[in-house]
Amino acid sequence: MTKILVVEDEVAYRDPLTFRLEQDGFTVMVAEDGLEAVRMCDESGLDIDLVLLDLMLPGMSGTEVCRHLVEHHPRMGVIMVTAKDDEIDTIVGLELGADDYVTKPYSYRELLARMRSVLRRRAVAAEPQTLEALDDRDILEVGTLVMDMDAHELRVGQSVVDLPLREFELLQYLMENAGRALTRAQILDRVWGFDFEGDPKTLDVHIKRLRSRIEEDPANPERIQTVRGVGYKLAGA
Ligand code: CA
Repeated sequence: MTKILVVEDEVAYRDPLTFRLEQDGFTVMVAEDGLEAVRMCDESGLDIDLVLLDLMLPGMSGTEVCRHLVEHHPRMGVIMVTAKDDEIDTIVGLELGADDYVTKPYSYRELLARMRSVLRRRAVAAEPQTLEALDDRDILEVGTLVMDMDAHELRVGQSVVDLPLREFELLQYLMENAGRALTRAQILDRVWGFDFEGDPKTLDVHIKRLRSRIEEDPANPERIQTVRGVGYKLAGA
């Protein structure tokens, strides 16, 4: 089992994240502040593979924790979690040596994708079934739509279609559930994150853009269908 340490003082982020990671088969440990995080990482028996490290923590800051981990636990992966884009610039500027960075609010899917690539890069001693479960998700195929998650690439028939991250994640979710009607709430929750508080119309805007890229006639979509009063459905193969 891949062991993840979630370092987060805000319970509103910590609990849903922990829940979903556990659902996806990770062993999850939690530290509520920087000192606790360092203590857990230093403990030899825990064998943590990846640390999701919030930047703003009470007491010892995320940057200090990151420095400690890079120096003392080079085998552990570190993904920094920040509240603002400009904090990322700060972290990058500090050259802390974290493997990756995400900004709150992040979508769970995006985080999972980053975690996966960090874990791969580091070739942690995860149990084979965990990596296999992750590998299973690498290529999605629905009719002539082929999505390669590793390359972050979508092919429609013979042509490669460029998709911004959010549209990519949206289509990915639809493809994973091809033939099934998904409610607006389900889609917003999965693609925009459990903490999405923006305008729900965002979804329609993204659907429209997605249609313009993958439908032959976007005005009469055949792939992404509107299910009235419910949400959307990707036509099955
Ligand atoms: Ca925090």
